[in-house]
Amino acid sequence: MDLARTDIYLDGRWVPGSSGQTLEVQNPTTEAVLATVPAGSADDVDRAVAAARAAFTGWADTPPADRAAALDRLHAALTTRADEIARTVALELGTPLKVATRVQAGLPLTVLRSYVDLAAHPPAPERVGNSLVVREPVGVVGAITPWNYPLHQVMAKLAPALAAGCPVVLKPSELTPLTAYLLFDAVDEAGFPPGVVNLVPGTGPVVGEALAAHPDVDLVSFTGSTATGRRISHLAADRIARVALELGGKSANVILDDADLATAVKVGVGNAFLNSGQTCTAWTRMLVHRSRYDEAVTLVAKAADGYRPGDPFDPATRLGPLVSAAQRDRVREHVTRALADGGRLVAGGPDAPLPDRGFFVAPTVIADVDPDSALAQEEVFGPVLAVIPVDDDEHAVTVANNSRYGLAGAVWSGDEERALRVARRMRTGAVDVNGAPFNPLAPFGGYKQSGLGRELGRYGLEEFLQTKAIQR
Ligand code: NAD
Repeated sequence: MDLARTDIYLDGRWVPGSSGQTLEVQNPTTEAVLATVPAGSADDVDRAVAAARAAFTGWADTPPADRAAALDRLHAALTTRADEIARTVALELGTPLKVATRVQAGLPLTVLRSYVDLAAHPPAPERVGNSLVVREPVGVVGAITPWNYPLHQVMAKLAPALAAGCPVVLKPSELTPLTAYLLFDAVDEAGFPPGVVNLVPGTGPVVGEALAAHPDVDLVSFTGSTATGRRISHLAADRIARVALELGGKSANVILDDADLATAVKVGVGNAFLNSGQTCTAWTRMLVHRSRYDEAVTLVAKAADGYRPGDPFDPATRLGPLVSAAQRDRVREHVTRALADGGRLVAGGPDAPLPDRGFFVAPTVIADVDPDSALAQEEVFGPVLAVIPVDDDEHAVTVANNSRYGLAGAVWSGDEERALRVARRMRTGAVDVNGAPFNPLAPFGGYKQSGLGRELGRYGLEEFLQTKAIQR
């Protein structure tokens, strides 16, 4: 399969990028170069934004039913590519194929489907006294996305932006651009008006900065690290442009003393190690009532053993490599530091066996972690779980909230009312009680330094709308 790409997508066509330079995409399992893509430039961003600006009025005025129909065509074009998308994510990111099929390819289709429906039924004008309050598309959207869910993170922006009537310029992560190319093959097949959807691949410092700072971009919608989110906020602040930020997390999984411990541990470990721990919502701090703590640590260590690292294309593999050598090295440093800080290694660690090649880290569990230590405070973004004892519900809430992040979390208890009381007090954008399933229509986003704004469902659509009051 030849994965190399030579063009960028501008104004409804594939065209060569202006820099003449390329970026290499690496396979994290084999460490080989997988393909090259064009390295976009600030000039490419200018051309893409100009195309999007020119398309804005026409797309904003397109009847909702027609915008919904275009999204429906995109859904059909992507559905035929679902297997190729799953394989490509397994190649460029290393997600085990089974998970890639269900989550990396499947979830974006679910999200897109929800916006086919929402696009057809936009918020109705509202009467407030002598005012008519109408919602209008915010304008040209610059979307900047990370590598860990390379299609889902894009779809969580692209689908609501298009549904709302906003043209988009996308800059995907330079580590996983191949999945974005498959999306744009589908965009091309679906037939949007020229300029409504544009792709400029490239690095953060070149293409990302040019897009975030561009005077003609009305909203910068970003998913990625908190450090980059801060930089993008500064760039957008110069022209008072809107920003939507989906950033990092250090989410707490609170296991109360009356919980079904076996289930709580099994689901908790699965959540922490999903996508090799490269998941912003990962429950990376497991907080367990002291009366069940030793029992829980034993169960966690056993569960972690089931996540042997291996080839993403082997159906038995549950843990692939990390995305890059740099990411692997960062995660290793976190583990070394956590052990030096007094954590107790109960699974994995620096000496656990690994495949000969590839950017692997063993599934690692560290118990007795100090809630103020680096491991409990910093996002690791690898398969590393911190286990922390807590005295009672009050203490669990205090430790859970002892974080500059607030993206996700969980509570387990035999008494749902008790679990809900704890969930309500957690300063975080989402909490799952007793392993409740993911809801693609529920608002998704962070408190504190985990972000600004919400994605998914009608809350996600709101991000791309302005509000106008007309008095009469
Ligand atoms: P990152 O911040 O390094 O990169 C994200 C994107 O920003 C990439 O496309 C990158 O090229 C671009 N970028 C980098 N520097 C830039 C700059 N100066 N100006 C403009 N753009 C720039 O993050 P990452 O390493 O790709 O992703 C991992 C991070 O993303 C983790 O911290 C994770 O928690 C977070 N994340 C958050 C969510 C969420 O929804 N909250 C989802 C997924 C990932």
